[in-house]
Amino acid sequence: MKKLIAELSRLPGIGPKSAQRLAFHLFTSPREEVARLASAMIEAKEKLAFCKICGHLTDEAICQICRDETRDRTLLCVVEEPKDLIALEKTREFRGIYHVLHGALSPLEGIGPEELRVKELLARVQKGGFREVILANNPNVEGETTALYLVKLLKPFNVKLTRLARGLPVGGDLEYIDEVTLGKALEGRDEL
Ligand SMILES: [Zn+2]
Repeated sequence: MKKLIAELSRLPGIGPKSAQRLAFHLFTSPREEVARLASAMIEAKEKLAFCKICGHLTDEAICQICRDETRDRTLLCVVEEPKDLIALEKTREFRGIYHVLHGALSPLEGIGPEELRVKELLARVQKGGFREVILANNPNVEGETTALYLVKLLKPFNVKLTRLARGLPVGGDLEYIDEVTLGKALEGRDEL
């Protein structure tokens, strides 16, 4: 039990108390249920990879969104993490395609452009075909820094650059913003 609690508390957002609660829940659950959870975790780990085009999580080489012929391929939305992409998808406001950076610039944590999928973004934009690139970086210091950096890099490509509308809770994370607010921010995006 101690080992399980220790492992659970290493998960993001799980403190010692939650870990203990989860461990007791598993302890009192039927064996099949626990086995199902364990195999789902292993399966996800083994099968999931990053989409070769956009960087979203997928169990195939190219994700479903990139493969979807009905999506607008002239609209590119740049996000930090797959969870931000999922949050934007939930709004049902966006019908373009995505680029996942896998993080944000953070000099304090030693995260520079090389640690993010910036090169891949430039290559995609350079290829042309986008009428607009939406920078949907999180409304916090790292997100703003990253967006400003990307604006400088992308300006020479002569593509319309926009940012999610102001008014999103500052310091927040897209994943915690409700769908309606996020949908409105997407709709009322500002040109940079
Ligand atoms: Zn993709």
